[in-house]
Amino acid sequence: MTIPCLDLRDGRSLPMLGLGVYKITEQHRMDQSVSWALEAGYRLFDTAQMYGNEALLGNSLSSCSIDRGSYFLTGKLEPSNSADPVTALKKSLDALKTDYLDLFLIHWPGQQQERLIWVWQQLEELHGQGLIRSLGLSNCTEKHLHWIMDSCSIAPAVHQVEHSPLLHETDLYSLCREYDIRLQAWAPLMRGNLDNPAIAEIARRYGKTSAQVILRWNIQHGFSAVPKSVHRERIFENANIFDFRLSRDDMAALDGMHIGKRTGKDPYSYDY
Ligand code: NDP
Repeated sequence: MTIPCLDLRDGRSLPMLGLGVYKITEQHRMDQSVSWALEAGYRLFDTAQMYGNEALLGNSLSSCSIDRGSYFLTGKLEPSNSADPVTALKKSLDALKTDYLDLFLIHWPGQQQERLIWVWQQLEELHGQGLIRSLGLSNCTEKHLHWIMDSCSIAPAVHQVEHSPLLHETDLYSLCREYDIRLQAWAPLMRGNLDNPAIAEIARRYGKTSAQVILRWNIQHGFSAVPKSVHRERIFENANIFDFRLSRDDMAALDGMHIGKRTGKDPYSYDY
C-alpha cells in the first residue's frame, strides 16, 4: 500500500501515516515493529531523544534492506538538551546511523521566548549544514507559534500536537493553516484508551475499528498521524484507512467530542 503524503512549505513531502515508537525499549520489539510497518507500507518513523530508543530504531532500520532515501525519519530535541542542540542532534544522528533527519522538532517549547528563539536559530544552522531536511515544532500554543513566526529565517514546516476526538483545538489548527504549517497528531489513539461507545458505533457502520475511524478522521482533517503499536495486526489495521471516507455528519460528531482531554503535559504551562 502506498501511503499518501502532504506537501510541506519547504518543498518536501510528509507521509500522512507513520509509526510512533515511544515506549519501544527492546531491540527485538523494535525490529519486529519496524519490519511489519515497512511491510504494511509505512515509510515514516517517529522517535525522540527523550524516548531513549534512537539506537534501537537505528539498528532496526539499518538491518532492513531499505535505502535511506526511501523512508522519513523524525527526531525531537529533548528540553534538557536545549543549551546545546548541535551536540544533541549529532548524538541522535550517530544513534540513528544516519547523516540527516528528515524532520527535527523542538519537543517542548517551554515558556521562555528568548530561549525558544535561540534554540530555533540553532536548528536553522543545522538545516543550513544539511543535517536536518525540514524543521518543525511540537506542543506549541498560538503564543509560541507567533514567537517563532515573528523571528525566524526558516518557518516551521510541521507542528506535531496531541490530537484526538477528545482534544481538538480548532483555533490552534487554523493558525497553523494560516502560517502554512502542516499538522501531525501524536497519541492519535488516546494511548490505547479506545473504549468509547459513540466512536465504536460510527466504526460499526463503516465495518471498521475505532482506531481506524479516529485515524481516518485525522487524515480527513489534513493531519498526518503517528500511531504506535508493537503488534502486527494493529500495525496493519492502523494503515488500512485509505479505502473509506467518513461522512460530514460523522466528522462533525467526532469533532464534537472535544473535552480538552490531554494524556500528556499541558503546553500552556509546562516549562523546563
Ligand atoms: P497512541 O495514541 O499511538 O497509542 C498507542 C497505544 O495504543 C499502545 O498502547 C498500543 O498498544 C495501542 N494501539 C495501537 N494500535 C491499536 C489498535 N489498532 N487497537 C487498539 N489499540 C491499539 O499513543 P503514543 O503515546 O504512542 O503516541 C504515538 C506516537 O506519538 C508515539 O509513539 C511518539 O512517536 C509520538 N509522541 C509524541 C509526543 C510529543 O510530545 N511530540 C508525545 C507522545 C508521543 P500496542 O503497542 O500494544 O499495540
